Amino acid sequence: MARHGTKPADFSEVKDKGIDPELLRRAWSFAKPYRGLLFIQLGVIVVTQIASVLPPVLFKVVIDSAIPNRDFAMVNWIFVAGVGLAIASTGLNLVGRWLDARVGEGLIFDLRVALYDHVQRMPLPFFTRTQTGALLSRLSSDVVGAQRTVVQVSTVVSDLVALITTLIAMLLFDWRVTLLALTVVPGFIWLDRRLGRRLATISRERMQVDAGMSGVMAERFNVSGAALVKLFGKPEREASKFAERADAVRDAGIRSALTYRTYYGAVAMVSALGTAAVYWLGGRSVIESGIKVGTLVAMAALVQRLYAPLTSLASARVDLLVALVSFERVFEILDTKPSIADHPDATVIERPTGRVQFDQVCFSYPGLGVDTVASLAAVSESPGNEPVNDATDPETIQKASSDAKPRQILYDISFEVEPGQTFALVGPSGAGKTTIASLLPRLYDVTSGAIKLDGYDVRDLTLQSVRDAVGVVSQDAHLFHESIGSNLRFAKPDATDDEMMAAAKAARIHDVIARLPKGYDTVVGERGYRLSGGEKQRLAIARMLLKAPAVVVLDEATAHLDSETEGLVQEALAAALLNRSAIVIAHRLSTIRAADQILVIDDGRIVQQGTHEQLLSRGGLYKELYETQYSLES
Ligand code: ATP
Repeated sequence: MARHGTKPADFSEVKDKGIDPELLRRAWSFAKPYRGLLFIQLGVIVVTQIASVLPPVLFKVVIDSAIPNRDFAMVNWIFVAGVGLAIASTGLNLVGRWLDARVGEGLIFDLRVALYDHVQRMPLPFFTRTQTGALLSRLSSDVVGAQRTVVQVSTVVSDLVALITTLIAMLLFDWRVTLLALTVVPGFIWLDRRLGRRLATISRERMQVDAGMSGVMAERFNVSGAALVKLFGKPEREASKFAERADAVRDAGIRSALTYRTYYGAVAMVSALGTAAVYWLGGRSVIESGIKVGTLVAMAALVQRLYAPLTSLASARVDLLVALVSFERVFEILDTKPSIADHPDATVIERPTGRVQFDQVCFSYPGLGVDTVASLAAVSESPGNEPVNDATDPETIQKASSDAKPRQILYDISFEVEPGQTFALVGPSGAGKTTIASLLPRLYDVTSGAIKLDGYDVRDLTLQSVRDAVGVVSQDAHLFHESIGSNLRFAKPDATDDEMMAAAKAARIHDVIARLPKGYDTVVGERGYRLSGGEKQRLAIARMLLKAPAVVVLDEATAHLDSETEGLVQEALAAALLNRSAIVIAHRLSTIRAADQILVIDDGRIVQQGTHEQLLSRGGLYKELYETQYSLES
């Protein structure tokens, strides 16, 4: 399947290009809200640069006119002018820096919010394939790197103005010395061509290996990852695998530092050669009385102002390339269009009754290319610049996206749940029950056939109205590291305290919460108070009750709860299912018996359908499952 978006995912595709005008145009479009400030900044830059070309002119006047004429008044006036210029330059510099920061930080904010909003709308496959650490690095360091584009552009303007004003002043003093000073310019251009691109490439590689290393840390250092490492991992092996990645980061750091040093060292050498040449020709000219000493001193001061912007202009191009790499990495994510999104005239259903139809549904999990940012998926396997195997190479992932045909998981699934009915899904592990349940809230879209809610194909409804209509309680309910209250209100932010407590009471969890020291303000989740499996599930049921959806999709806990908790969960479930349509992945005999219909799933197909009694009397897979798994409970 074709990858969405227009940007290449692999940086190697762009590393040999210069500055991409299209990329620059897109980056500029992000700077649009700050155009006013940028124009003010431009004015400040021009005035600052003109002001700083004046001191060498003042030196010349002191040496060539004031000193020979013993003119104290002139010296005093030049001193006052020098002080005034110094104060004005400092003030203007400060204003310029403030404008830089204001625009830069504003841009960081805009990019970060745009990325966050885009990423949270990406469908599930994006998150299953993306390494969290790598994604976080896009949202932090790349966003900061990208705003440097603005700083670079203003530096370029500033350097250009400095270069022009200095050249004019020098030409007015002595055109021959000026031309000699300019003979080193090809040296700057040559250095930029030779080393500039290498620096940009090294910088890309460095970001990639850095993201890979952060990814490993993010994965291992969360509670579940750390527990897994403790239970199954070997600390020495973990440390040596991490060292491999850290090694790649170290090598990239050394290479980058060396190349930077070589570059700046060579640039400094070229400018020193130019300055020496100015003194050589200027000195001879003074001896032959061609120019005055003051002119030579002014020329020597001006030549520094000539090379500084030249050096900076040469490296600005490199820095701009590097900053644009960050923009490119941000755009790479923004350009990955989510495969599941509202279509332009999607319908909203206000009060769904909860009729659910599965109509000849077939399904395969999406292939590698869909909802995948190849460079984010690739870093998880590659410790260095070289992918360890083909499957980690972004190009391979791209190719696989068009070649691979994903395995079919569901075949021709059809059933109809009337409002208020409960359908139980039973079947062996891996049969496809969870997959069926995840299609209704559009965590994935069907490959063929249709799923209808109140007669509407769910793909024709807005995602919001589908998710308002369908409440999901999964087996291992996730809680954010926030208070119980805000975890519950996640389903309905404007719920009153009374509504929240009523939901918790119905889900039989209120008493547990009331006993906690901070009650509904107790912080739970990864780093907070740990709830037991049964408590967590009842909290998830309360969260769902608060949302009051028309349809419930429920994955019953498989873990055996003690009989008291079991009873409470049972009561909570009864409250959850009351007056709602429900699709339940059932593990308890009581739920199965109470269901209006039971769908027996095997290998992606409905192999039997009926009530408990009907299915028992017919024999087959259901009877086998009943005899091996459920009869013990009766
Ligand atoms: P269990 O009772 O063990 O939870 P199940 O009946 O719910 O099993 P599913 O989780 O729906 O089974 O899985 C059905 C098949 O789909 C399995 O073969 C599984 O490997 C595959 N599968 C599940 N999730 C994905 C995924 N994200 N990508 C690719 N294949 C998947």
